[in-house]
Amino acid sequence: MQSANQNIKPLTTKINEKGNLSIGGCDLAELAKKYSTPLYVIDKETLVSIAREYKNAFKSYAKFKPKFASKALMTSAIAKILADEGYGFDVVSGGEIYTVHNAGISLNNSTFNGNNKSREELNLAIDLGIGRISVDNFSELELLNEILEEKNKTQKILLRVTPGIECHTHEYIQTGHLDSKFGFDLTQIDNVIELITQKYKNLEIMGLHAHVGSQIFETKVWSDEVEVLIKEIKRIKDKFKIELEEINIGGGLGITYTKEDTPPSVQEVANVVLKSLEENIKKYNVKEPVLYIEPGRSMVGTSGVTLYTLGSSKQVPNGKKYIAVDGGMADNIRPSMYGAEYCAELVTKKDSETKQKVTIAGKFCESGDILIKEIELNNPQKGDILCVYNTGAYGYSMASNYNLMLKPMMVLVNNSQSAIIVNRQTYAQLVQNDIIAEI
Ligand SMILES: *Cc1c(COP(=O)(O)O)cnc(C)c1O
Repeated sequence: MQSANQNIKPLTTKINEKGNLSIGGCDLAELAKKYSTPLYVIDKETLVSIAREYKNAFKSYAKFKPKFASKALMTSAIAKILADEGYGFDVVSGGEIYTVHNAGISLNNSTFNGNNKSREELNLAIDLGIGRISVDNFSELELLNEILEEKNKTQKILLRVTPGIECHTHEYIQTGHLDSKFGFDLTQIDNVIELITQKYKNLEIMGLHAHVGSQIFETKVWSDEVEVLIKEIKRIKDKFKIELEEINIGGGLGITYTKEDTPPSVQEVANVVLKSLEENIKKYNVKEPVLYIEPGRSMVGTSGVTLYTLGSSKQVPNGKKYIAVDGGMADNIRPSMYGAEYCAELVTKKDSETKQKVTIAGKFCESGDILIKEIELNNPQKGDILCVYNTGAYGYSMASNYNLMLKPMMVLVNNSQSAIIVNRQTYAQLVQNDIIAEI
């Protein structure tokens, strides 16, 4: 079966009886009219389908525990849907912790991760009963233990490690020693274990955590990662007589932004991970560990699209035709930040086929605010609605108020119904924290 991450469009995308595009049974032109644009649209069926696919793909492994990497898209409604599917959360800030908690979800199934967690954030996480804290570095070990001593509490932790596997989107390279801001180098682990066993008595070490990269298409990185982690568990077991029982292998599965992207299915990833796990458990003679995964992009990317209205256009003499939309780099920074590419199409049917090659520009005051460098659209006209696919991950979550534009609304669609899950910001909200000083 094809996984949602192997599709460009949400699974429910159809052309309806009017000849318009629809998602979740909702006509996109009507959604744009009802809610205005720019508009983030999330298809619940696609989201739930991939969430179940992950669970299904790993179901032969009893100690499998999926988490969602909140940083890809965290809103109360998304958190609730995924918690109902049995997911915990990988959270990286006080704001993400607060949002999960505020959605009425216990944090005992979640992991707090990050390379510079503040005292306030650690306090909040501990007070709300966070399941695991993935400790990133020596200063955090000390700070966390100090906070726990004050509270007279203990905390289950993972150690974030740099496994020495670096991956680029299409190929990967393995290096012995990786220059990364995240996690402990494997050569530092002995020192960490000594500190935990002798000095930091409020920390209970449960396992190892790694994350090798993002938008990965090459399954071998995960089998290598599993081996590095199991081998390290074995080494710790032999040296310290402590057998760690949990590994968190992070996220990173890629999605299909354009036809050139060919990510493996969730099942293919699961097969590779489980095979490597089985082989290395045997090879290194360790207990079956709890297996955490924490995908972000592949969970939410394909379920989300963004609707824009086409506005002014500019034909450069003997050059490109630019068409501007009513959003851009503040609601999707990925094209201007790292040249990310997207597929898009107009949502309404046109009577005739007159294809035009155009560049879709944003409306922000940066020349680099180009959403799509070159796309063929059918007779694009001012007022037409453009649907940009695959914007569910790292769109809203990286959105800003640049140029003091309002962050867009987000709606959930399902079974021909739509519901607002994030309201459009208001001008009053934009200035609510402003203070005119009298000094
Ligand atoms: C970003 C991140 C993830 C999720 O990555 P995706 O590429 O969105 O799947 C998971 N774990 C950690 C530690 C991360 O930093």
